[in-house]
Amino acid sequence: MTAQNDLGRRIAHQIRSQGPLSVAQFMTIALHDSRAGYYATRDPFGSDFITAPEITQIFGELVGLWCAQVWHDQGRPEHARLIELGPGRGTLMCDALRAARLMPEFLQAIEIVLVESSPVLAARQSDRLSGCGIPARWVRDVSQISYDRPSFMIANEFFDALPVHQFVMTAQGWRERVVTADADDTLAFASAPVPPTFRAPPERGDARPGAVYEISPAATALVEDIARGVVSAGGAALFIDYGHEGCGFGDTLQAVGRHRFADVLASPGSVDLTCHVDFGAMARAARFAGAQVLGPIGQGQFLRALGIEARLSRLARNRDGLCEHAAVRRLTDAGEMGTLFKALAILPQGAPTPPGFTKGTERC
Ligand code: SAH
Repeated sequence: MTAQNDLGRRIAHQIRSQGPLSVAQFMTIALHDSRAGYYATRDPFGSDFITAPEITQIFGELVGLWCAQVWHDQGRPEHARLIELGPGRGTLMCDALRAARLMPEFLQAIEIVLVESSPVLAARQSDRLSGCGIPARWVRDVSQISYDRPSFMIANEFFDALPVHQFVMTAQGWRERVVTADADDTLAFASAPVPPTFRAPPERGDARPGAVYEISPAATALVEDIARGVVSAGGAALFIDYGHEGCGFGDTLQAVGRHRFADVLASPGSVDLTCHVDFGAMARAARFAGAQVLGPIGQGQFLRALGIEARLSRLARNRDGLCEHAAVRRLTDAGEMGTLFKALAILPQGAPTPPGFTKGTERC
C-alpha cells in the first residue's frame, strides 16, 4: 500500500537514505512529528477514541481522592507535587482537584505539574484547568520532572503510547521487526538481524515461529526513574492502562482512528498507535529501583474498592446525558474495561498500603 500522506512520504524518504526504522522509531515519528504527528497536531478525544476520565467524572474524582489519601498517609508533607503524565484534555486533573477539595490541606501543599508533549493538548489542558482556579505548570518531556519533594504521579492511558520494539521468531531465529520503504513510498514491515545471543526472557515460554516479543525500554526506563524518585523523596505513582502481565508472546501494536482499527503503516500521523502495556516489566523496573509495588489489579476491582458504587448512587446523570450507571459499568465490567485495564501503584518501601490495593496483590 502506498503511503497516502506527506508524513508517510517523509518517513519513506528517511528510510531510503538512512535505513529501516525500528517499530519504536516509527511510533515516535508517527505520534510526535512536530508538523504531522498524531498527538502533536490534534485533540483526538471523542472523535477517535474515548478514555475513562472522558466517560465519567467519577474516574478522576476517585483518582484525586486516592492521591490526597496517600499524601495524608505519608505524613501530609507540606511541600509536595501532583504530577500527571499525558493529561489529554485535562479532564482527569480537573475532576481530581475538585474531589480533593475535601482535603484542602492537600491542595495547599501541592504544586501541579502536567507533562505533555503536544502543544495542542497542553493548550486544551490550560483552558480546562484555568476554570479550576488552581495554578499549574507544564513540562514537555518526562526528563524535565524533578524529584526534589514528595511526588504523587498519575498516568491514565499514557504508557500505551510509549514506543515499543518488536522481535519476531522466524525460521532463522529471532529478528527485529522494522519498517522499510520501496521506491514508490510504500511502507512495509520487514525483519532485521539481531545479535546471535539475543533471547526473549525464558519465563515467556517457548517461542514458536511467528511469535512476537515486545519490549518498551521507554516505559521501563521511565518507571525506574519514577520509582527512584518516589523512593528518595516520598510520594507514589498510580498507573492505569490496558495491558497484560508480561506472559507469553503477541503483537499488540494497533492503530485506531474514528473508533475503528486501522492499518498501522498506511497513513502515519492520522491514526493513534498504541501497544498493550507490559505491567510485569513495569513492576520489575520499579522493584529494581527499590520501590514497593502493588498490583496490577483490574480497573474494575480497583474502582470498586475505592467506592465507585457509592459515588454513583449520589450522581444521577453525567454531563453528556449518558446514564452514569452505564458509564460505571463500562469502566468496571469484566467484559468491558474492568479487567483489560489495570492499576499499578508504586510507593516507597514501608509506606502504608494505598486505597484500592491490598498487600499481597503484587503479582509480577
Ligand atoms: N490521560 C489522558 C490522555 C491519554 S492519551 C486520558 O486518559 O484521557 C495520551 C496522552 O499522552 C496525550 O495527552 C499525549 O499527547 C500524551 N503523550 C504521549 N506521549 C507522550 C510523551 N512521550 N511525553 C509526554 N506526553 C505524551
